[in-house]
Amino acid sequence: MTGAARVPGPRCLPAAQVHGASRTDTGPRSCDNSSVCARMIGEDSILEWAAGLGIGAAAGLSAWAAVSPWSQLFGPVLSRADSPQAMALTFDDGPNPAITPALLDLLERYGARGTFFMIGRHVRAHPELARDVAARGHAIGNHTETHPNLLWLSPRRIREELDRCQDALISATGVSPRWMRPPYGFRGPQLAPVLRRGGWAGMALWSRAMFDWKPQPPGPMIRRLGRSRRGEIVLMHDGDPFVEGADRTHVVRALEHWLPRWAGAGVEFEILEDEPGELQPAAAD
Ligand SMILES: [Zn+2]
Repeated sequence: MTGAARVPGPRCLPAAQVHGASRTDTGPRSCDNSSVCARMIGEDSILEWAAGLGIGAAAGLSAWAAVSPWSQLFGPVLSRADSPQAMALTFDDGPNPAITPALLDLLERYGARGTFFMIGRHVRAHPELARDVAARGHAIGNHTETHPNLLWLSPRRIREELDRCQDALISATGVSPRWMRPPYGFRGPQLAPVLRRGGWAGMALWSRAMFDWKPQPPGPMIRRLGRSRRGEIVLMHDGDPFVEGADRTHVVRALEHWLPRWAGAGVEFEILEDEPGELQPAAAD
């Protein structure tokens, strides 16, 4: 996945329109996803989620399409690395002053690059961190302004969320990301047309989730991360959508464990910065 990252991006709103996000104007609590992260967990949980919404078994296919990282029903998604030899490390919900600097140092130590899907209001709070991520050769993706559940938003509101985040990223880094990642991985049929019209490369999801969105001891995360293989897009978190300075030490500890081992095994790392139009529907596992 190579290509120029600094290319003209989707339309952006003026900076004057992008301030004022609050903790209360968002959907689910965070990427803790204990209630909404069914897409990462499996069919049983997806069905529980659908039943919880009261939409019935007949809507099971739509529920799966809305939450599964592999579903192409609501538009093509990227869920595997471009090269079967490479691993794509991705980090959501930052930048986070408590974790992102240490993470950047660690990645640099092992010559690894990742893709950071940032939240616009975090970028506004810490533009220097976003700038540092870009300056150190990592790719940046758009993770919306306030981390809402896009499943329930109108096309106009989705565009607004993406544009506000894009404006923050361009202001902070000069980079206009081509990839977006929907919060919680949730998307409805209205998202793909918005992305197409906005000139986005597409939506990037993942093939392996680390369930790392809450503070936790590093041991389980080390075990989970050890199951990652070449060709996968790995979902991790360096921040929290709604908490400043969230503790994601376990993410750093797990990478401290695996990066030297991966380096010794010759694992390559891929970042997500395709040119527009390159996205092809990913094959389901
Ligand atoms: Zn997120």
